[in-house]
Amino acid sequence: MNVALPQSMPALKKLQASPGLDFVPEVEIPAFGARDVLVQVTHAGICGTDRHIFEWDQWSQNRIPLGITTGHEFCGTVIKVGPAVTRFSVGQRVSAEGHLACGKCEACRTGNAHICDYVRIFGIDCNGCFATYHSVPEENAWAVHPEIPDHIAAVFDPLGNAVHTVMTAGVSGKTVLITGVGIIGLMAVTVARAAGAAQIIATDVDPKRLALAKELGADETFSAREPWVSQVREVTGGRGPQVVLEMSGHPQAIRDGFEALQPGGTVAILGIPSKEITLDLSSAIIFKGATVHGINGRRMFETWYQMERLILSKRLLLDPIVTHQIDMQDFERGFRMMQTGEAIKVVMKIPQ
Ligand SMILES: [Zn+2]
Ligand SMILES: [Zn+2]
Repeated sequence: MNVALPQSMPALKKLQASPGLDFVPEVEIPAFGARDVLVQVTHAGICGTDRHIFEWDQWSQNRIPLGITTGHEFCGTVIKVGPAVTRFSVGQRVSAEGHLACGKCEACRTGNAHICDYVRIFGIDCNGCFATYHSVPEENAWAVHPEIPDHIAAVFDPLGNAVHTVMTAGVSGKTVLITGVGIIGLMAVTVARAAGAAQIIATDVDPKRLALAKELGADETFSAREPWVSQVREVTGGRGPQVVLEMSGHPQAIRDGFEALQPGGTVAILGIPSKEITLDLSSAIIFKGATVHGINGRRMFETWYQMERLILSKRLLLDPIVTHQIDMQDFERGFRMMQTGEAIKVVMKIPQ
């Protein structure tokens, strides 16, 4: 099928070395190679990472090349396929893994493409999906099951982070503490519940998020504005949780999580501290015989299959997490609502 493409498209770009993003009405349509699919993006999720880029913090100043189109979470429809593409056709609804792995390094060749030596992430290292058209390699594209709605398919990326963390730690039949219930922490609550966690405890500074964590399946919640370690011990029969899922990146939450952990327990860390932190390794990890996992991205594509099956099982509660759907032109409001805490997850509708 030969679909005529327009001359240009609107896109959200990072043009200035200062806070904000620019809505650019006329940008060149992305080129696509023999093994790429060109996607007409319909919905895109605003990630915490996009917020860093919007706010132009230290991390983004060091990482983001000015001029790129931002965004890495989306769903849309395949509109063109390169001549070597075999698994996708025009008209198919897709999302995509945002980590572009090289496919050739040792990590890639041993089933660990999520920690590829040469990984590039779209919307961070190269042009992303906050635009009407976005080109992705066929290997990265993911066919969206017809029963999964667009606004959920647009948040596969963070949901995959949550699934990867929960599955790596192993929560079935265990007591689980989740430190930090932002977007991915909240997703981890519902995923841990679906994966058979025996008891789920959440901590956060925001009472609204803690209330939502309860709605999603947390048994107990504690405000991180006050010391909580002894209370968490108490509600886990004096032993402490067997699993800690660290989603805050906050130094004190990380230290408290290790302190609360039961001896022989497992910690999976996804939250990213903004700088080096101190931790007493002897008491936190060594003498406790703790197992610690660092979590990066999603396993390609094991996490994606798990995620799809969990969604289709109807055991995940995701609608309460995607609190707002707005037009892309209204992006500033979306970022402001995330900053004030009014919104949890914001999905943008992309102009067609
Ligand atoms: Zn993201
Ligand atoms: Zn690689």
